[in-house]
Amino acid sequence: MNLHEYQSKKIFASYGIPVPRGTVASTADEAVAAAQGLGGPVWVVKAQVHAGGRGKAGGVKVTKELDGVRQAASAMLGTRLVTKQTGADGLPISQVYVEEGSAIAREIYLSLTLNREKSRIAVVASAAGGMDIEEVAAHEPEKILSITIHPAVGLEAYQARELAFGLGFAGSQITEFTTILKALYKLYIDNDASLVEVNPLIVTGDGKLVALDAKIGIDPNALFRHPDLVALRDRTQEDPIEARAAEHDLNYVSLDGNIACMVNGAGLAMATMDIIKLHGGKPANFLDVGGGATVERVTAAFELILSNPNVQAILVNIFGGIVRCDVIAEGIMAAVQKVGVKVPVVVRLEGTNAKQAREMLSKSGLAVTPAASLTDAAKKVVAAAKSR
Ligand code: GDP
Ligand code: MN
Repeated sequence: MNLHEYQSKKIFASYGIPVPRGTVASTADEAVAAAQGLGGPVWVVKAQVHAGGRGKAGGVKVTKELDGVRQAASAMLGTRLVTKQTGADGLPISQVYVEEGSAIAREIYLSLTLNREKSRIAVVASAAGGMDIEEVAAHEPEKILSITIHPAVGLEAYQARELAFGLGFAGSQITEFTTILKALYKLYIDNDASLVEVNPLIVTGDGKLVALDAKIGIDPNALFRHPDLVALRDRTQEDPIEARAAEHDLNYVSLDGNIACMVNGAGLAMATMDIIKLHGGKPANFLDVGGGATVERVTAAFELILSNPNVQAILVNIFGGIVRCDVIAEGIMAAVQKVGVKVPVVVRLEGTNAKQAREMLSKSGLAVTPAASLTDAAKKVVAAAKSR
């Protein structure tokens, strides 16, 4: 779960990390009032969306005029911002953050995230901040500095100093940097973060370090112990199909292919996506309907996968262990009747009551293609998607 910049900066400030003063606004009038309250002479109006790359996409406006604040806020609010990170549909802007402007001498990149290979939190830093860090990593990897933190020992002072020297800091800036990094690490641990990113961390005209941008991602599996963070969740910034899936307790992830999958069990769902790819197809989603699937949940799952307009064929792959195949078959029939499925459906059912389920489907008169094995199912669904 991601937080907005203004929410992240509030948390930064509570850990003593310097951020510019700012006020969030949902209308142009509020934005002007916010700017008046901050007092100028320079303001920055920033679109609040769960994505970076706003600067290059017109989502960050620096202005010296109150009227400029009004114009920027009205131009952004109520529209959708498309950046390199959002996909073509963009994300809705319902709030802007109005900040006091900062004079920038240098822009640094700094982030903390989990390095899965090393099973440790990694700090990544670069003197080439402010721009696309992926570009820097791809073309000038020598400009990226990184350390990993031992979970029992925590961030060590020498590691923070090593990064500070590598970034070219000297004098009191070394202490400022190490203090900020220690605070970011504590913030990361306290809040069960999966990402804390500051891009850019700036050196101001008078040599001070300030977090000019802030991004916090929280591990969704840890949200149960952070009700305060759950309250900050903005569903309008999330994939609408994934949000609906969460309401039905379905594990769903949108993907960019055209073959929808409905599977029980996360491992089987992963294997199903693999085998679709192996046979030349592209999955449109990951979906685990879980062990305790009921007719209602299967129907909801069908509605979900069909609400993706890219879907050209559906593969249902169920191994009936706890969930019975006849329940799945009933769900499929209910869903097809309710939602009107217009794309080919290939079904592979094995396990408890599989025979009964196959009979139910073949008697139903629905255009459902049975498959004898997983490989057979994958081949049939890939062919069905291609022929459309
Ligand atoms: P992002 O593009 O979504 O990552 O948004 P950022 O908050 O990182 O802003 C993008 C860029 O806008 C920064 O790298 C700065 O170059 C510029 N910018 C943001 N705030 C200020 C400011 O207060 N003063 C000046 N001069 N530039 C700013
Ligand atoms: Mn940024």
